[in-house]
Amino acid sequence: MSSPGRPVNPVAAGLGCRCPACGEGALFEGFLRVGKRCEACGFDLAQADSGDGPAVFIVLIVGVIVCFSALFTEIAFHPPVWLHLVIWLPLAAILALALVRPLKGLMIALQFHHRASEASHDDL
Ligand SMILES: [Zn+2]
Repeated sequence: MSSPGRPVNPVAAGLGCRCPACGEGALFEGFLRVGKRCEACGFDLAQADSGDGPAVFIVLIVGVIVCFSALFTEIAFHPPVWLHLVIWLPLAAILALALVRPLKGLMIALQFHHRASEASHDDL
């Protein structure tokens, strides 16, 4: 458990799917459901909401990797279309599933670190 006052590295906590407040407790209950409370520090995780942020970054990252790889493969080797589908569609799905947890954790940790919240009239 981290000592009080010790800053938590938001990138390490987020990518490790750990609590953004203490960096110790698990952030997720299931595959993507954020837990209600941190088991290590009791931080209220229910207020964490990353919205569509992780999906946007996943689409951009996986899209660049898969599209440029497919384009390079087509130019260099001219494989049949069915081979493109067999290679790139599963790769896109695997990369998206592999990235969604760490990127959601990172978005939540960075929101907590920067005290991000929705704008209100009191902010003006
Ligand atoms: Zn915690």
